[in-house]
Amino acid sequence: MAWVNENYATLQDSYLFSQVAHKVAEYSAAHPEKKIIRLGIGDVTLPLAPVVVEAMQRAVAEMGVKETFRGYGPEQGYDFLHEALVKYYAEFGVELESSEIFISDGAKSDCGNITDIFDDANVILVPDPVYPVYLDTNIMRGRKIVFMEGTPENGFLPMPDPAVKADIIYLCSPNNPTGAAYTKAQLKEWVAYARQNDAVILYDAAYEAFIEDGELPRSIFQIEGAKECAIELCSLSKTAGFTGTRCGYTVVPLALKRKTKNGKEMSLNKMWLRRQTTKFNGVPYIVQRGAEAVFTPEGQKQCRENLSYYKENARLIGEALEEKGILYYGGKNSPYIWMQCPNHMKSWEFFDYLLENLGIVGTPGSGFGSRGEGWFRLTAFASREATEEAVARIRKFL
Ligand code: PLP
Repeated sequence: MAWVNENYATLQDSYLFSQVAHKVAEYSAAHPEKKIIRLGIGDVTLPLAPVVVEAMQRAVAEMGVKETFRGYGPEQGYDFLHEALVKYYAEFGVELESSEIFISDGAKSDCGNITDIFDDANVILVPDPVYPVYLDTNIMRGRKIVFMEGTPENGFLPMPDPAVKADIIYLCSPNNPTGAAYTKAQLKEWVAYARQNDAVILYDAAYEAFIEDGELPRSIFQIEGAKECAIELCSLSKTAGFTGTRCGYTVVPLALKRKTKNGKEMSLNKMWLRRQTTKFNGVPYIVQRGAEAVFTPEGQKQCRENLSYYKENARLIGEALEEKGILYYGGKNSPYIWMQCPNHMKSWEFFDYLLENLGIVGTPGSGFGSRGEGWFRLTAFASREATEEAVARIRKFL
């Protein structure tokens, strides 16, 4: 008899995006004449930067020649990409060693896989609302999960509560879905809490490239002492349009050590290396050459142009909401606009209202946790034309 993992039976069905798609399809079928504007999905729409495409084309050509062909690469990524990332981090004052950086096929995989190196007896602290992967991957392990609430009072940036003892802490900054980003002073408090409790912070910086406020940290390692208590997960998906190309990186500092239940001290860097070399065979050479190009001066220039395009979309949406007196967060250092549903509507109620009256699709906040009820996520990833049209409809009809 093969028993299956019973924790899967306790997972809630993930209705969010399928229900959104279902409702939109139903509405389109009933109103084929209506033009629907999609501000729901968190996927990019601009193509890869030309330097990235050229680098990948060169790599493809290399793969077709006996002398330059490459087979299996290092599981943790090629040195050329580690070196590019070491330089990138140095730009915001973080010194890393190549061996602290692990290249992966994206932050989602790493978010899920990192659970492998921690004991299942750990208490997991998860923000609410947040990217649902942190919650589900830990439910799959049967772990105890404690929530910390994001509310308008704390600007959707929950802070440590000394009364709550947690072992693993997920922080997402800038946050999906709220767009809120922690300040250095706030992260300092989290680092202090983690060190006091021998906890580990899993810091998801997938949206760090959207930060424009120079005072805000781009990496948790900008905070003193973070290398002894944090792992950072990052991605090229939103930074450089790699959602379909797939490349991310995780930083596990050499200084990060914790004990087994039996008291044996372990290096988390060595554990993660062991995990990756055992269960993962690396990111394609071609993709890693594309990723390397992102961090060249020309790559940064081209990617930043795309980010500016999205940020202008976010600004336009925010401006219209402000005019309407609607409370919202994010939009400034993030591609997400997190708005309060008008007239005390619930998230799904507002979804229907927006679709039926304005022909705009967004994402109900309740899909990101119970504290997301009454809130709604709009994204800046649509085209400028679609965003301008949406903004005009918001101005006229909301
Ligand atoms: N982390 C956050 C907060 C995200 O919103 C996403 C994607 O939407 C990811 C991680 C996953 O990114 P990737 O495409 O690198 O797997």
